[in-house]
Amino acid sequence: MAERMLKFVGTPQAMPGKRAPAERRRDFREIYAEYAREKAAEQAARCSQCGVPFCQVHCPLHNNIPDWLKLTAEGRIDEAYELSSATNNFPEICGRICPQDRLCEGNCVIEKGFDSVTIGSVEKFITDTAWEQGWVKPIQPRRERRESVGIVGAGPAGLAAAEQLRRKGYQVAIYDRYDRVGGLLIYGIPNFKLEKEIVQRREKLLRESKVTFHLECDVGRDVNLSELRQRHDAVLVASGVYKARDIAAPGVGLPGIAPALDYLTASNRHGLGDKVADFDSGALNAKGKHVVVVGGGDTAMDCVRTAVRQGAKSVKCLYRRDRANMPGSQREVKHAEEEGVEFIWLTAPQSFLGKTKVSHVRSVRIHLGMPDASGRQTPQEIANSHVNVEADLVLKALGFDPEDLPALFAAPDLGITGWGTLKIDWRSMMTSLDGVFAAGDIVRGASLVVWAVRDGRDAAERIHSYLTAKAQAALAVAAE
Ligand code: FAD
Ligand code: SF4
Ligand code: SF4
Repeated sequence: MAERMLKFVGTPQAMPGKRAPAERRRDFREIYAEYAREKAAEQAARCSQCGVPFCQVHCPLHNNIPDWLKLTAEGRIDEAYELSSATNNFPEICGRICPQDRLCEGNCVIEKGFDSVTIGSVEKFITDTAWEQGWVKPIQPRRERRESVGIVGAGPAGLAAAEQLRRKGYQVAIYDRYDRVGGLLIYGIPNFKLEKEIVQRREKLLRESKVTFHLECDVGRDVNLSELRQRHDAVLVASGVYKARDIAAPGVGLPGIAPALDYLTASNRHGLGDKVADFDSGALNAKGKHVVVVGGGDTAMDCVRTAVRQGAKSVKCLYRRDRANMPGSQREVKHAEEEGVEFIWLTAPQSFLGKTKVSHVRSVRIHLGMPDASGRQTPQEIANSHVNVEADLVLKALGFDPEDLPALFAAPDLGITGWGTLKIDWRSMMTSLDGVFAAGDIVRGASLVVWAVRDGRDAAERIHSYLTAKAQAALAVAAE
């Protein structure tokens, strides 16, 4: 083992510099600076090079973390990049937005009492350096293949699959109903977590690698799944989940109450320079308002922090469970608190009050009861515990469900699960339709970018096996 490793005893954990909350509140730029090269090496050298690296086990991509930490500690960043990019199509994106506290870093088994290695920040540093140095190059497949694959959805699952398939020489066309590439990376996740240029340079690279994009093409409306099956030798559905869950409470239809993703998309579009009527009219703009966000996941955290930056008068997050039981990343909650967001734990909305528009959220306090079948404690209302929370803008961030894809795609034989997600054979990743595969949120339900990348990569492998077997079968028939 290199001598320079195992420095966790003498070197404390240090994240890259984080901008002060007062400054962060005023703009949408990312909140962390980049490590300087020496700092990245110093932090990477804290790794104790475990024989069984639990960080790697708990990374959905099984990134070779100890090895690229060692290379970084030794200043061999080009080799670290080679290794890191071999298992992850977007290491600089995952390094920025993975909930590391629940994945790699949360399972770093550095001696008890010492903070984990800052894996995500080193991963981001390695690939940002690779981009700066011009090491990230378009794909030039060793041989071009005749077969083509159509991908529905230009989110991380579709993009990762496209890159992997191009590497093997397939002709790849991506169809997306949005006007920009990136899915939730572009229109969901705000700039302060992931600046848009980071996604856009990936799009440029894919275009230079000869991936074709058909944007503003809504599959089901502009083109049918059956047409795509005719056009391509295989189809991958990576269309994500977009049907926002609603709150069944009186007054929920009042003006001033909006779905979280509409709000975030308007803010992201405004940031990208688009003219957004609902933003300009104030309907989806928090400026000068008392904002209440209902929910406790990543989407809720992005809403509260966006509202702060838009100049809201006050921002509150209402969540029916407690801090320990929220689905969002604890790191994000901490950022939000630093930026002035107030969390009202164990509280749920019961009705929305207001004459012509919302003015208050009438809420009830919650007690967490016995665990249910999933093991989570069931929220129970506490009698006579109502509070009215002032609100001019309420954002509903309660999660997403899939659209009715068999109906949307006019494909009644497309099998779905009880949750409405696409049913696949987990070994082949194929849906109930021959040659139609699926990956990402549309299979898992709302999940994480790193899982979408993993699924996209796996699907590309399975599509390759399917097309190879098909080509061999055709050859055998021709030879008869
Ligand atoms: P998506 O990213 O949703 O992409 C699907 C694409 O398919 C979209 O571009 C869509 O326009 C297109 N599409 C859909 N239907 C059609 C159709 N009929 N025709 C053509 N195109 C279609 N994950 C993290 O790991 N970290 C985070 O910090 C994080 N923050 C998040 C914040 C928000 C607000 C949200 C909503 C999610 C967040 N996530 C986060 C989750 C993450 O963004 C998703 O898990 C991931 O983007 C899923 O990737 P995907 O490729 O499956 O789908
Ligand atoms: Fe950690 Fe995510 Fe990187 Fe895996 S991809 S090492 S989970 S930051
Ligand atoms: Fe290094 Fe922590 Fe991974 Fe062990 S678990 S190899 S100390 S990063």
